[in-house]
Amino acid sequence: MMFHHDMCKDMQNRMILEQKIVECIKNNGFEMYYQPQYDFYQNQFRGFEALIRWYDAELGWISPAIFIPIAEESGDIIEIGEWVLREVCNTWAKWKKMFGQDGVISINVSAAQLTKTNFVELIDRVIVEYKINPSEIELEITESVFINDTDSIISTLNSLKNIGVSLSLDDFGTGYSSLTYLKDLPMDTLKIDKSFINDITENNRQAEITDALIELVHKLNMETIAEGVETKEQYDFLRYMKCDNIQGFYTGKPMDEQTAAQLLEQKCYA
Ligand code: C2E
Ligand code: MG
Ligand code: MG
Ligand code: MG
Repeated sequence: MMFHHDMCKDMQNRMILEQKIVECIKNNGFEMYYQPQYDFYQNQFRGFEALIRWYDAELGWISPAIFIPIAEESGDIIEIGEWVLREVCNTWAKWKKMFGQDGVISINVSAAQLTKTNFVELIDRVIVEYKINPSEIELEITESVFINDTDSIISTLNSLKNIGVSLSLDDFGTGYSSLTYLKDLPMDTLKIDKSFINDITENNRQAEITDALIELVHKLNMETIAEGVETKEQYDFLRYMKCDNIQGFYTGKPMDEQTAAQLLEQKCYA
C-alpha cells in the first residue's frame, strides 16, 4: 500500500516539476553558474564548466541532477539545451572582450540534444553568431549517449571535431566505463568522476586504478580532469599521479556569473 502511495506521490511531483520546467523556460528563469577548472600541473586557469541553476519561488533551489533527467524525458531538454548554449557562449564572448582570458568553456550536452539531426548545425551557427573560437568550446558528453546507435553518434562527434570544438567524456567511472569508449570515440578529455576518486587517498587499489587510468589516457593522447576534488590530500595525490586538470570544491565551487567575472578580472586563479 505504502509503495503505491509513494509511487503516486512521485508521479505527482514529477508532473508538477514538468509543468514548472515549461513555465521556467517561458519566463527565462534558468541561470548559469560557472565552476573553475585548473590546469594544476601548470598551475593556471583552464576554464569553466557551465552548470545550470534553477530557483523556484515555491520549491527553492532544484538540482539539475533532478530536473535535467525529467526534461530529457519530456523533450524540454532540447529548448533548455539551446538556451544554455546561447547564454554560455554570449557570456564567454563578453568576458573575452572584457578580460581577454585564455581557456575553454565546458558545456554539458544531453544525449537527446546530440541525436537531434541539426545539433552540429546549431553549434556551427552559435559559434559564428557569438564570434567564438571553436577551440575554446568543450562539449561534455556522458557515455549513456553511446548505448544506442553508436555509429551515428560517432559520426556526429567527428563532425563536431571538424568544426573545431573539443569533446570530453563526462562522469567516467560511474557507468560501464568501457575501454571500448576510449578506443572508439574521438574524445580529447576524460573526466574522472567524483565517486571514482573519493577514496583514492584511503583505498590503495582504487589509487592504483586511477594512476593506471591516467597513464592510459595519456597514451591515447587525451587529457584528464579529476572531478569533485574536495581535499588537499586528493589534490596532492592527483598532482603526484600527473592528472592534468582539477575541478572541485577544493579549488572553487560553482559561482554565479558576476563572481566568475570577478575571478577573471582579478586573475586570481592559481
Ligand atoms: P556534471 O556535469 O558531472 O557536473 C559536475 C557536478 O559536480 C556539478 O553538480 C557540480 O556542482 C558538482 N561538483 C563539482 N565539484 C564538486 C565537489 O568538490 N564536491 C561535490 N560534492 N560536488 C561537486 P550540479 O551542478 O548539481 O550538476 C549535476 C549534473 O547535472 C551535472 O553533472 C550534469 O550532468 C547535469 N547538468 C548541469 N548543468 C547542465 C546543463 O547545462 N545541461 C545539461 N544537459 N546537463 C547539466
Ligand atoms: Mg559535466
Ligand atoms: Mg561529471
Ligand atoms: Mg553527471
